[in-house]
Amino acid sequence: MTGEDFITFEGVHKAFGKNVVLDDLSFSVASGERVTLIGPSGSGKTTILRMLMTLTRPDRGTIGVDGDYLYHEKRGDELVPASEAHIRKVRQRITMVFQHFNLFPNMKVLRNVTEAPIHVLGKSKDEAEERGKELLEMVGLGDKLGAHPSQLSGGQQQRVAIARALAVDPDVLLLDEVTSALDPEIAAEVLDVLRDIARSTDTTMLLVTHAMKFARDVSHRVLMFNEGKIIEDGTPEKLFNEPEEERTQDFLRSVI
Ligand code: ADP
Repeated sequence: MTGEDFITFEGVHKAFGKNVVLDDLSFSVASGERVTLIGPSGSGKTTILRMLMTLTRPDRGTIGVDGDYLYHEKRGDELVPASEAHIRKVRQRITMVFQHFNLFPNMKVLRNVTEAPIHVLGKSKDEAEERGKELLEMVGLGDKLGAHPSQLSGGQQQRVAIARALAVDPDVLLLDEVTSALDPEIAAEVLDVLRDIARSTDTTMLLVTHAMKFARDVSHRVLMFNEGKIIEDGTPEKLFNEPEEERTQDFLRSVI
């Protein structure tokens, strides 16, 4: 961890109709930091990840990644909406693994992993395939390169999705409840793979998960959300062992 702010949310507000999902939210994440977002369903956690993927736009506020604004740019003293080209550039450095894998169903496993490096980053097919095989080996799927996603189990598909997300060598990896669609035993295998990855990389990670033991193992910091606000922010030891807020205590009792 370098300690410098890498991702910044400043005064971010988002409502869907009358439903205020994020309420003047500000926080930052340092380069190399792994931060888990916890909190009850509907408290805005996924919305934050989706904003970083530019899938959801904030109503107000700024979001920055490594000094570049995602939704706004500074021109002089003024904040103006970022251009599409600028957003695309920042967005390329961030990848996300979803709850439901979202693999390209018509492409074989290796091609799923090499698609973005070739077509977005402009890597050669050979280079992309070499790295793709390495990553698939790392997630335990070196023997499935030529399989179609439909021939794989849910846990295997999710491991392909993880390899695919890493293939572009992202600055930021977002993990959104990546095991909640899986049986507990299979989920544990996927979490083991992610634990190894977390230990061996300095990629900045934001995780939304209900797997609290996993969160405790891999996170540098945990943010507790409630009704669109961060109500507690601390190390996993502090937050899980001695939560200060009653709402956090209640939430942890309900999930552990
Ligand atoms: P969490 O990840 O903490 O469960 P979410 O960020 O998914 O919470 O959702 C926060 C709130 O925003 C929920 O009430 C959800 O129904 C609402 N929401 C999310 N996306 C949309 C959308 N596209 N349209 C309307 N409401 C939405």
